[in-house]
Amino acid sequence: MKKIILITLYCFALQLVAQSKKNPAEGIFMDKVERTDKEWQACLTPAEYQILREKGTERAFTGKYYNHKEVGTYVCAGCDNELFSSNTKYDSGSGWPAFYDALDKSKVNTKMDYSFGMKRIEVTCAKCDSHLGHVFEDGPRPTGLRYCINSLALDFVAKDKK
Ligand code: FE
Repeated sequence: MKKIILITLYCFALQLVAQSKKNPAEGIFMDKVERTDKEWQACLTPAEYQILREKGTERAFTGKYYNHKEVGTYVCAGCDNELFSSNTKYDSGSGWPAFYDALDKSKVNTKMDYSFGMKRIEVTCAKCDSHLGHVFEDGPRPTGLRYCINSLALDFVAKDKK
């Protein structure tokens, strides 16, 4: 129990240090959250670590947000960066939470991913560089995009709790 409290305090302190760095141009550059592997292991559960820091993928239809329909904001499980709105969430039938857009283009980064013999576009958190999932071009209008995101990479903040 004592260990959990200490780890929580440690992660909270890391967050404060990250937030205290002033933005030279708010909205253009984002304060980065940088942690060592050891620090990430202390902050995340083993399952979260495997997805966020080792580019893992949870099994389809197993994630807690796949069928989640509450109104609110999905944030990064690694750094609380606001990533997706429930307004853009839709049922893709794929087995993972799907969004047709990010909250803001500056919130996520994308890059080509050729792992496992596939050609995909990886989506990462722009703030802490954690792996979130992939984006595909088979989504609904208006963007035509499908951000296919692991539930374990997300936390949810309900609208009335903000
Ligand atoms: Fe993050």
